[in-house]
Amino acid sequence: MKSVLIHGIGALVTGDIRAPLSNATSLYIEDGRFREIGTGRTAADIVIDARGSLVTPGLIDSHVHPSFGDFTPVQNATNWISNYLHGGVTCMVSAGELHLPGLPIDDPDPNLFRSLALLTRACYDRYRPAGVKVEAGTMMLVPGMKRADFEAVAAAGSKCVKFIFYSYGQNPGEQADYVRWARELGLKVKIHSGGVSRSGVSRPAGAEVVLKLQPDIVGHINGGPIPMPFSDMEQILMKSDHFLEIVYSGNHSLSQRFMKKVAEQGQLRRVILGTDTPSGTGVVPRGMLRTMALVAAVPGVRPEEAVCMATGNAASAHNLDNGFVREGQPADLVILGRIQGASGNTPLESLGDGNLLGISMILIDGRLVVRDRSLQTPPPETGARIEFEG
Ligand SMILES: [Zn+2]
Repeated sequence: MKSVLIHGIGALVTGDIRAPLSNATSLYIEDGRFREIGTGRTAADIVIDARGSLVTPGLIDSHVHPSFGDFTPVQNATNWISNYLHGGVTCMVSAGELHLPGLPIDDPDPNLFRSLALLTRACYDRYRPAGVKVEAGTMMLVPGMKRADFEAVAAAGSKCVKFIFYSYGQNPGEQADYVRWARELGLKVKIHSGGVSRSGVSRPAGAEVVLKLQPDIVGHINGGPIPMPFSDMEQILMKSDHFLEIVYSGNHSLSQRFMKKVAEQGQLRRVILGTDTPSGTGVVPRGMLRTMALVAAVPGVRPEEAVCMATGNAASAHNLDNGFVREGQPADLVILGRIQGASGNTPLESLGDGNLLGISMILIDGRLVVRDRSLQTPPPETGARIEFEG
């Protein structure tokens, strides 16, 4: 595999919210992985001059609903994952493959839901649309599941299980078993929080349900699309240590109000970002960039911290091996710049004002998957340039 040298980096976000910025102005990549963060090398198979750009880990959309390859039945749209790549997304985590046409969710059969998770996991492991890593096979939890169901999806490589179509009032012992089995098998537990979804049959879950269930990740705490009352959001922030997911499809004014509170409490390490799409909200290729900008503009949040929420925090929440610029890790990167006419002197300043950034290049596993410019963002004022390609 080709080696890649990137130099001339204006700002490098590490993905690690405890130390979000690196002083390094260059990166050396070999065999698809970061080999040197800050390097004296001057040669590689591909040499890129970032020309002062912002370089960040590839964005991880923590909440998507894949179905078949690059097609989504919920909006009868094709190429959605390829389009999300051009919005900076190099990895996405399924929140359940619930848009399969005709899926019987009103009277759910546990075998069918296990099979759906196994099937989608197997398919997306073999087929990566446009190179994007799709962490599919999130098993939606329904009554009557056995430990063997959890073992099967864990063995297949799934990362998550999710409560959504589950009557929380009934059978609390079963719910506790589900959470325990998932933990024992290394699966993360996510919950659809807030009000009823488009399906009409998801179950509302506010602070009382969440704090009793003790999931790892509170899915779309700002609503997907309907959030729980703000006082419930505050309770979850104060009384738990769960990851808190903010999504594009939710209530934006509450997101900003809530994020201000999260920042005041010093809990930014718990925040992850997603789109909760494709859905009734649509297909939104710039959803991650827009959500990152929304959060970056909140008082108390630095723009580089917002980038970490869309990268390293999401990786930690789901146990992924990407999301950081670290030696030895997969070289998934986005090279971005300020857009002409936008406020701010640097890309990070512009992001902090709540602006979209323009993408010039994207790498997945050290391979250039977007090399001229993004087809979904305005061009950056100063884009990265390939200086040499051997
Ligand atoms: Zn969702």
